[in-house]
Amino acid sequence: MRPKLYFTVDSDRDANIPIPGNVAAGSIDRGSGTGPRFSSSERGMAILADLLDDIGVRGTFFLEGRTAEMTECSVLAGHCIGLHGYDHEDLTGAETGVVPDVGAVLRRGFEAVSDRVMCPTCFRAPYMAVNEGILEVVRGLGITADSSLYTPVGGSTAPYDIGGMTEYPVPKRKDPSGKTIAAYLWPMHEGRRVPSDYIHMAEGLSHMVLATHTWHMVETRDRGAMGDSWVRDNTDRVRQVIEGILDLGFEPCVVGR
Ligand SMILES: [Zn+2]
Repeated sequence: MRPKLYFTVDSDRDANIPIPGNVAAGSIDRGSGTGPRFSSSERGMAILADLLDDIGVRGTFFLEGRTAEMTECSVLAGHCIGLHGYDHEDLTGAETGVVPDVGAVLRRGFEAVSDRVMCPTCFRAPYMAVNEGILEVVRGLGITADSSLYTPVGGSTAPYDIGGMTEYPVPKRKDPSGKTIAAYLWPMHEGRRVPSDYIHMAEGLSHMVLATHTWHMVETRDRGAMGDSWVRDNTDRVRQVIEGILDLGFEPCVVGR
C-alpha cells in the first residue's frame, strides 16, 4: 500500500494567542492591541488553495467559525472542511485559566462553518488542546475524525480508533541533530527549518499528517508581515515540501476519508 500524505491547514485568526482570562483568542499585538485580525489568514487561505489546486492535491482545512464568517472562503471549494472551534478557544483552559462551555462553542463553530462553507467532517482543537470529554462533544456533532494529537515516530503513524472516532495524529520525531521536529511547517515559515527537513521526516512513514496555518503564509510571529518576495519564497518552500513528499511515493489524502 502506498504511504499517505494528509496536508492540513489550521484556518484561524492571524498570529493567534491565548488571552489569560478570556475564552476568545486574540492576535499578537502589532501596535493596535490584541483584538483578533483575519487579513493574513484570508490572504494565506487563497495562496494555499491556489497552490494545492495547482499541484492537484486536496487539502484539509480546519476552520474556526469566526474565521469562516470574517474571510472569503469560497476558495476552499473542493477541499475537505474541518472544525477548529469558534473563537479559537483554549478548550481545556490550560493556557487561559478559563474553561469554556465546550458544547456551546463547538456547536456555534459547527453552525458558522456549515453556514459559510460546508458541514465540517473532522476536527482539530485550537492549540492541539483536547481531552476525552471534548472529543465526546465533537462526536456528538456527528464528526468522526480528529487530528488534535501528536504521535512520536518510532511507533505507528497510522490513524487509529479513539472511542469511536478515527484519530489522524501529527508525527513528531528527533531530527538527525537531536532536535525535535513536528510535522508543523511553523519553524519553516519563521526561517528556522528548510523543506528537506520535512521531506526527510516523511521517509519511511506509512502516514504523514503535515500541518500549517493560513496566516503563516504571509505573516510570521517573530517579525510580522512578510514582504512580497518572502511570501513568494515561503509559498515555494511549501510547494517543495509537498512535491518532495509526493515524490517519495505518497498518495495525497484528506482527513476522515
Ligand atoms: Zn489554531
